[in-house]
Amino acid sequence: MPVRQRMLLGGTLRDARRGAALARSGPEHLRCATLAVYSAPVASAFTHAFAAAALGHVLVPRRPALWLLGALCAAAPDLDVIGFRLGISYGHLLGHRGLSHSLPFAALSAVLLSRPWRHATRAGEQGAPSTLRLWTYLFAAITSHGLLDALTNGGLGVAFFAPFDGERYFFPWQPIEVSPISVRRFFTARGWRVLQSELLVVWLPALLVMLLASGWRRMRSHS
Ligand SMILES: [Zn+2]
Repeated sequence: MPVRQRMLLGGTLRDARRGAALARSGPEHLRCATLAVYSAPVASAFTHAFAAAALGHVLVPRRPALWLLGALCAAAPDLDVIGFRLGISYGHLLGHRGLSHSLPFAALSAVLLSRPWRHATRAGEQGAPSTLRLWTYLFAAITSHGLLDALTNGGLGVAFFAPFDGERYFFPWQPIEVSPISVRRFFTARGWRVLQSELLVVWLPALLVMLLASGWRRMRSHS
């Protein structure tokens, strides 16, 4: 059964079916699963982590330990590739880019992490982020993963609204080269192309936003 895919913000389905052969279940399911483990399309874990750290610089300044948590949370949704080894097909709710990449999953994970984090750290410390701010940051960090994946040019789209809706989504603009999930494959010519596209589309804008946020804070502290 082909998986339903749709472009976010309108547009056509043209690229959304790229790699869909991997998603078909049925007699060839296990062969596809094996193949997918080695070529599952992702934005690289480095980029997901960096985007989350950049968000942290803006939303929860001067909290490097929290940025690290955000970076880990932002990279974590791709652990769903373990499902391939368990025989879960790509297009399944628990498949790659399924539930773990959804907005409800991000919201719930942020709830489960923000309160314990506030208790474990010095909650009463002056300037410590509130639980709401922690939730907002962690939600943004985890959500950024799915948003970046929806900007990649391969694989299946992202099930943003799982478990309520299994439809997979892409943005109409997909400037990020899909990254091989295998670390060995990442350090190849293709890996370098992936890195170049991610540097241009994610790292540079994120660095710019971080610089602007720092400048704005400095201006405020001097005024
Ligand atoms: Zn992903």
